[in-house]
Amino acid sequence: MKVLVVNCGSSSVKYTLFEMDSEKKIAWGIVECIGLPEAYYKRQTSGSDEQKDSVKVTNHMEAAELIIKNLMAPETGSIKNIDEISVIGHRIVHGGDKFSKSVLVTEEVKDGLKECFSIAPLHTPGHYEGILAVEKMLSGIPSVLVFDTAFHQTIPDYAYMYALPYDLYEKDHIRKYGFHGTSHNYVSQRAAAMLGKPIEQTKIITCHLGNGSSLAAVEYGKVIDTSMGFTPLQGVVMGSRCGDIDPAVIPYLINMNKDYADPEALNVLMNKKSGLLGISGLSGDMRTIVKAVAAGNKKAKLAFEMLCYSVKKYISAYFGILNGADALVFTAGIGENSPSVREQICKNLSAVGIEMDVDKNNEPSSSERFVSTESSKVKIMIIPTNEELMIARESKRVLTNG
Ligand code: AMP
Repeated sequence: MKVLVVNCGSSSVKYTLFEMDSEKKIAWGIVECIGLPEAYYKRQTSGSDEQKDSVKVTNHMEAAELIIKNLMAPETGSIKNIDEISVIGHRIVHGGDKFSKSVLVTEEVKDGLKECFSIAPLHTPGHYEGILAVEKMLSGIPSVLVFDTAFHQTIPDYAYMYALPYDLYEKDHIRKYGFHGTSHNYVSQRAAAMLGKPIEQTKIITCHLGNGSSLAAVEYGKVIDTSMGFTPLQGVVMGSRCGDIDPAVIPYLINMNKDYADPEALNVLMNKKSGLLGISGLSGDMRTIVKAVAAGNKKAKLAFEMLCYSVKKYISAYFGILNGADALVFTAGIGENSPSVREQICKNLSAVGIEMDVDKNNEPSSSERFVSTESSKVKIMIIPTNEELMIARESKRVLTNG
């Protein structure tokens, strides 16, 4: 059985084709910068090297056409016929309170997704365009939507509510939703397997640290809290997002500078110009920050320390609400690849039973591994995330079980 996983952004279409018997990737790639002169198509198959070409694609439909043609290319393609694909799994960032679990795409589901446009205007219209495009190219093949917010649906009301007037929740659906759910789900399952316990007997803190970052407290396989909120802006310091700030800063800024009366200007400030980038003035990319710290750059050091400190605070809070934890997991670009970030976060956490083996932490590896000391009560793990595989599994499950 083959499953095609598709992740459509506002100007990109990313895909991975899986053979589900072996759960191996057969072909994967991305069409980026749709509608722009610099558009390109980068792709690879399990048996070939990466290829990258400039392309002319003006919309998602043309991108989908390019991808399907490439997947079916006579000599080099991975499939001969579209019927070889049993199901298409779409990654959807925000399901609002409309979608609490993965669903098979119907006309009603598509209408429901349209209602989520206002809650996630940066992502959902692109997803919607992508669904229509893939549907047209692969007509007759069922599609499943897998939501980044779904794994967080078990968070209790006292944790997901904001203490704003209740009306805003009832009428405008303003509450914490949480993101990166597919990643938190995948790594918590792997962590339980590494602990050798059923997930129902584990308490796990997962740290997805990438350009966007979030943590989740996973109790017996269910999320009880997560750091991102109504949007991915809440929580820890990120590449270019500010994370938690005093909300009173916003009316203050509007009063001080009329440019900020435009909500878009505030969105850009807090989502695109803050975080590591805003503090260092250099970059939102952790590799650049780490190099600058080593070269003695003071603002880069401050940005690095702020990010690590904010993660450490959430870990400590989650240790408290879980009443202890079996494992602390690091995943995503920074979590998997930056020993110095992991070390800084885990420093002086022995009071909550978190003790890092610094040598193990520094060993280069891209495999799942433990980096805690033998005596550490909480096992520290690095687990490469695999959101695409999780979406493929979920799509197969929905297709098979409904
Ligand atoms: P992601 O969003 O998961 O792709 O993660 C992107 C982030 O991971 C960027 O901030 C990268 O700088 C960071 N990253 C990737 N590799 C490394 C590395 N070797 N050391 C530090 N940060 C890294």
